[in-house]
Amino acid sequence: VVVKEKILQRRSLQLRHRQQDWQESPEGQKLLEFRRSLPAFKAKDAFLRVISDNQVVVVSGETGCGKTTQLPQYILESEIGAARGAECNIICTQPRRISAMSVSERVAAERGEKLGESVGYKVRLEGMKGRDTRLLFCTTGVLLRRLLVDRSLRGVTHVIVDEIHERGMNEDFLLIVLKELLPRRPDLRLILMSATLNAELFSSYFNGAPTMHIPGFTFPVREHYLEDILQRTGYRLTAYNQIDDYGQEKTWKMQKQAQAFRKRKSQIASAVEDALEVADFNMYSLRTQDSLSCWSPDSIGFNLIEHVLCHIVKNERPGAVLVFMTGWDDINSLKDQLQAHPLLGDQRQVLLLACHGSMASSEQRLIFENPEGGVRKIVLATNMAETSITINDVVFVVDTGKAKETSYDALNNTPCLLPSWISKAAARQRRGRAGRVQPGECYHLYPRCVYDAFADYQLPELLRTPLQSLCLQIKTLQLGSISEFLSRALQPPEPLSVQNAIEYLKIIGALDENENLTVLGHKLALLPVEPKLGKMLILGTIFKCLDPIMTVVAGLSVRDPFVVPSDKKDLAESAKAKFAARDYSDHLALIRAYEGWKDAEAKQAGYEYCWRNFLSSQTLKVIDSLRKQFFYLLKDIGLVNNNSETYNTWSHEEHLLRAVICAGLFPGISSVVNKDKSIALKTMEDGQVLLYASSVNGVVPRIPYPWLVFNEKVKVNSVFLRDSTGISDSVLLLFGGNVSRGGLDGHLKMLGGYLEFFMKPELAKTYLSLKMEMEELIQK
Ligand code: ADP
Ligand code: MG
Repeated sequence: VVVKEKILQRRSLQLRHRQQDWQESPEGQKLLEFRRSLPAFKAKDAFLRVISDNQVVVVSGETGCGKTTQLPQYILESEIGAARGAECNIICTQPRRISAMSVSERVAAERGEKLGESVGYKVRLEGMKGRDTRLLFCTTGVLLRRLLVDRSLRGVTHVIVDEIHERGMNEDFLLIVLKELLPRRPDLRLILMSATLNAELFSSYFNGAPTMHIPGFTFPVREHYLEDILQRTGYRLTAYNQIDDYGQEKTWKMQKQAQAFRKRKSQIASAVEDALEVADFNMYSLRTQDSLSCWSPDSIGFNLIEHVLCHIVKNERPGAVLVFMTGWDDINSLKDQLQAHPLLGDQRQVLLLACHGSMASSEQRLIFENPEGGVRKIVLATNMAETSITINDVVFVVDTGKAKETSYDALNNTPCLLPSWISKAAARQRRGRAGRVQPGECYHLYPRCVYDAFADYQLPELLRTPLQSLCLQIKTLQLGSISEFLSRALQPPEPLSVQNAIEYLKIIGALDENENLTVLGHKLALLPVEPKLGKMLILGTIFKCLDPIMTVVAGLSVRDPFVVPSDKKDLAESAKAKFAARDYSDHLALIRAYEGWKDAEAKQAGYEYCWRNFLSSQTLKVIDSLRKQFFYLLKDIGLVNNNSETYNTWSHEEHLLRAVICAGLFPGISSVVNKDKSIALKTMEDGQVLLYASSVNGVVPRIPYPWLVFNEKVKVNSVFLRDSTGISDSVLLLFGGNVSRGGLDGHLKMLGGYLEFFMKPELAKTYLSLKMEMEELIQK
């Protein structure tokens, strides 16, 4: 023990000398000077005092004031200064890999070191950390997994949880675990850092922990909304352009306009009218909440963004431009488009950079540098540039108003699927990025009335993620009993809904009776879609009909590509019915429509095809790109290999498709009784139900199947089924539900409500033992 202490002491002294040497060197002094100019520096002493006196502290401060790079460093320096450097062990979590990496690099540089000396980082599958690393930046997921094997974080002296205002699911999980740990580790210090002023919520969660605010400085930023931008920049959103720009063929009005436009190419509405039109559409999408699937990489708003960037480069004062996009794919496509532009693609005038989670670190460094010789820097970034990364010389911000909402990002590193509107808080944050060094300008590419309709704050991810997926995540992270764990959250979800979700996961075979993950459950947790859709995908691989099943799953996780304009209902319905001739299935209709579109696309006739068949090409494009993502994901978790043909041997077997759809959508089942002039539908829970007319089965005189499976029901006055597929008795018996739940007899009893009518018990037993075999196969 004595020897060990001696060694520690010696190392601590060495660290102290090295730090002093660096701070006295010319280069070190220059950086120190910069660091002292940050607002955080004024708060340094107060900060160190408050953490020595309290176990938990909540710090808030304007983005860029120095929370992430400075506060952990102050702790490290003060420990080193007190010759305790070798004993401290500081962990600072970041919601994203990229910030963990870039911040650690920056802090190491400020300390005149290479990464992996006293400062390191660790993200999933990657890291830079040495024996002497005392300050570690890691993703929240990494710390959560460490807690799995080391419940009391032995040896750790400080935990800093950064960006808590984002309310990511992992951060909320981590806080639950840490709250429980604190009484057992009275020497451990916990520091929570937030970019917004909602410190009270966190403070009261930790029994009134002290809060501290670091005042920042920013310059005023002028705001421009779409109507104003169109006027200022002289951009004309023609009817045709609107479709290009926003993928808005969704509204019938737009379609008519586009049609007219194509006939009389000269028809151009005035800019203001156009803006109102856009506003109208945007309001429509906000109301129907399916706004954003129109943000596909190949079209949306790119022309408008290009135009605004041109305007800035040509007419505005010097200063970098920051464009907020939704993700890696649209950043890349926009970059391609801009690079082909005569002005924006000219490297002597414009430096185009991308800033997103998977960029190379050489590219990362360029983002922070000032280009030489009057070159204009344009950075295309995801919402990580809202708070986690600060680019100082930004004067112009272009805000598209959209962001991808993560579902279970950090844990599996899987892409999140759909973009959506940001909150007012996020829009304010984006705007603020323009005023770091001088007064700035912010271009919001949406009308003011759309901003007014934004939510004030984004809902915490924990309350946004579907509960079934959430439960699977808790189990994957081995956080114990689901309901008990969730009841301790900062803002817990409804207990009854949690119970229902657990029960549902048992029914579909993702959890066993003791709430443990089954093999199927493990796989489902790795797929970023609802469990029922994930199960369909997995069955699609097992039963070798993957392509059509991927189409169905993509369609169900986005929205219906069939468009039903209110003034052309009948035409639209009959167009859809053509795809389902004699099939009695919306899901099969979707498969056919998609396949027809693919063929038409290959002949450059995709647009006409959509037009004729009342389909949204935008939605079909999203479905197309989702299908690709699904295949990669399935490959990633080892369920398929490269050769997709292997998984499509039976893709044309319509009965098999019905069966797999049934397996996924069960217990969404309704019985069918054909009467003289009507069809009576019933579900177990609701009794009588009705079908929407937009379902192909909603407009037929009779349905020659005893059962319908459906994905979604909606309660208005009566309960309505949105979509449906007819299935036979034997399909329901073989594919509905999960035998392992309650064994053969139990299962028979459960299906009994449905099946007594038509099955001889002996026959049922044979079916069920077949089914049992099949389920074993699936669980393997
Ligand atoms: P906060 O966490 O409060 O948002 P940071 O600690 O991330 O602030 O950043 C503080 C300042 O340090 C920023 O204003 C920025 O100027 C500077 N900075 C951060 N990272 C880098 C970097 N990689 N290169 C150059 N400057 C940086
Ligand atoms: Mg920060």
